[in-house]
Amino acid sequence: MIRAEGLLRRYPGFELAVEALELPAGRFVTVIGPSGAGKSTLLRLLAGLEAPDAGTIERRGRVVFLDQDRTVLERSVLANATFGLELAGVPRREAERRVRPWLERVGLAGRLRQPAQLLSGGERARLALVRALATEPDVLLLDEPTQALDPGNVALAEALLREAHAQGRALVLVTHNLYQARRLGEETWFLLGGRLEEASPSERLFTRPERETTRAYVAGEMVY
Ligand code: ADP
Repeated sequence: MIRAEGLLRRYPGFELAVEALELPAGRFVTVIGPSGAGKSTLLRLLAGLEAPDAGTIERRGRVVFLDQDRTVLERSVLANATFGLELAGVPRREAERRVRPWLERVGLAGRLRQPAQLLSGGERARLALVRALATEPDVLLLDEPTQALDPGNVALAEALLREAHAQGRALVLVTHNLYQARRLGEETWFLLGGRLEEASPSERLFTRPERETTRAYVAGEMVY
């Protein structure tokens, strides 16, 4: 669960200002908005990777953030997969036992000893997902986890996220894929120019939005 109030974050030439925001336990939220709207900034604030200039953020449960870069450590695929668990204090052997089924599911079981840097973009994305999911977080914050993936990998990633949700985890997923935002979200947040323009149940936001700006954006009429 995450609750934010009076959030303010300023960069030169940009300001993110969100009056109030709530992510209840177990909720699947998708976040949409033009490039530069502040989506990644909001996620970093919610993750606690950056402090706001003003406002408060209350977090309950374990929050894990999956960045856009699909960063891998210069270690083996297996060591990358266990990294999150080891950070959480799980002994290496136990961590390895726990990540194996995940690595099998994402088709990386045959590559355990290979250096992770050799993986393709799609494989790195799957590895990053495994690293995050294996820690069984209460809240998962994801910045465009399926960007530039082929359709099969998108479907696989979405299946894993749905499953995490079915297990009671809360998710906040930033995506430029509006179909995905509608497909996966229970609630969708539309960010525009550093403001939370609309937060509505996903189906409603895409079919009967409250704001004209939301309608124009989801109809593809907003040029940016
Ligand atoms: P989005 O994820 O919606 O594309 P971002 O949150 O990445 O938007 O960025 C919002 C604005 O803040 C952009 O204008 C970006 O250049 C600026 N910005 C983001 N991070 C920083 C930073 N660390 N320092 C300065 N400006 C930043």
